[in-house]
Amino acid sequence: MSLLSPDYYLKDLTCIDPHDLKKRGIKAVLLDRDNTLVSREKTEASDEVIAWIHSLKEHDLKVMLVSNSFSPMIAKEAEALGIDYIDRALKPLPIGVSEAMRRLEVDKLETAMVGDQIFTDVVAANLSGVVSILVEPLTSVDLWHTVQLRKVEALVLGGREAQESLDAS
Ligand SMILES: [Mg+2]
Repeated sequence: MSLLSPDYYLKDLTCIDPHDLKKRGIKAVLLDRDNTLVSREKTEASDEVIAWIHSLKEHDLKVMLVSNSFSPMIAKEAEALGIDYIDRALKPLPIGVSEAMRRLEVDKLETAMVGDQIFTDVVAANLSGVVSILVEPLTSVDLWHTVQLRKVEALVLGGREAQESLDAS
């Protein structure tokens, strides 16, 4: 499988049904922050996303924020969501994902990494051997270099459509 190819491509986080994850043997969900969990222009996750995280936890799924950011906001947001976090994760290197698995005491077959960027989140997931889930970005507001990468991502996806559930993929 290509390092650039996500196992699943979904419209957003809330398309991920905890039952579908459990059916696939997933025990831990690692989440990117910017434009996956929280819109780049905002400082808080939406009510829908917060409810989704609660539903993962209710289904005994472990959840951790794995972000390349080094903003103090990461710690505050993770605390508000009641989840642990890794910042400066250095995605696309697999370091942050590996550290998350070690902390959560899960192996790669039990882990999914969810993010909105192929060249950071999907590559880090695929290098780590975990399930890679790409979601559409929450907004089109991105850093300049991200805007450039989005153009390449569109080529990589080659017209692949985002699905509404893991089972639809
Ligand atoms: Mg992101």
